[in-house]
Amino acid sequence: MSSTLVEADLRALADEADARLADASAAEIVAWAREQFGDGLVVASSMADTHLVHLAQAAAPGIDVLFLDTGYHFAETIGTRDAVAQAYQVNLISITPRQTVAEQDAEYGPKLHARSPDQCCALRKVEPLERGLKPYAAWINGMRREESPTRTDIRVADYDAKRNMIKISPIAAWTQGQVDAYIEDNQVLINPLFFDGYTSIGCEPCTRRPLPGEDPRAGRWAGFGKTECGLHA
Ligand code: SF4
Repeated sequence: MSSTLVEADLRALADEADARLADASAAEIVAWAREQFGDGLVVASSMADTHLVHLAQAAAPGIDVLFLDTGYHFAETIGTRDAVAQAYQVNLISITPRQTVAEQDAEYGPKLHARSPDQCCALRKVEPLERGLKPYAAWINGMRREESPTRTDIRVADYDAKRNMIKISPIAAWTQGQVDAYIEDNQVLINPLFFDGYTSIGCEPCTRRPLPGEDPRAGRWAGFGKTECGLHA
């Protein structure tokens, strides 16, 4: 695909693809994206969505996978990343923030996440993702519509205006039951925290197990009004 496509072209491409792929399987959506964008396609994974990584590498072997190594991950998440890099046909790329946690603490004071999680996410997630995505024309993410009230209108293919690229959500329509079935059928490597009551996993200081009856992402930034890290803004 030409790298000189302008916003109108990209919007048209996303609209056409979204309409055509609305009922396609996740594998078909990834295969379309690979054909369309070649090496200009990347998966962004938190390693809480290893089912996405598994299906992406099955449809597009050798695909680049970006992982944001915020410095605040659970050890289990880092272990999952390392296992995925070993076991799956991916080119795993870990992106780190410009500052270590110690450097950030020195400049902003300790535990910025407990005082200003938006600022902490901007420094440790949003900026590194922007940097990591820059070389690509399209990115794949694992968001699903049923995950949260903020995600009910996710499209399979969308124009990412913030980054002037195409954003692809191949499992937007999947239910949790479909995720579980895919993991079981394919013996997908998963973050062991899912066996310990967690249903959505981010940085350790900002993640807790959801309480009975809460939505699966309720344990993220609990106590703050925050529901998203800003990556999908
Ligand atoms: Fe900081 Fe928490 Fe955001 Fe991680 S999730 S970057 S620790 S505020």
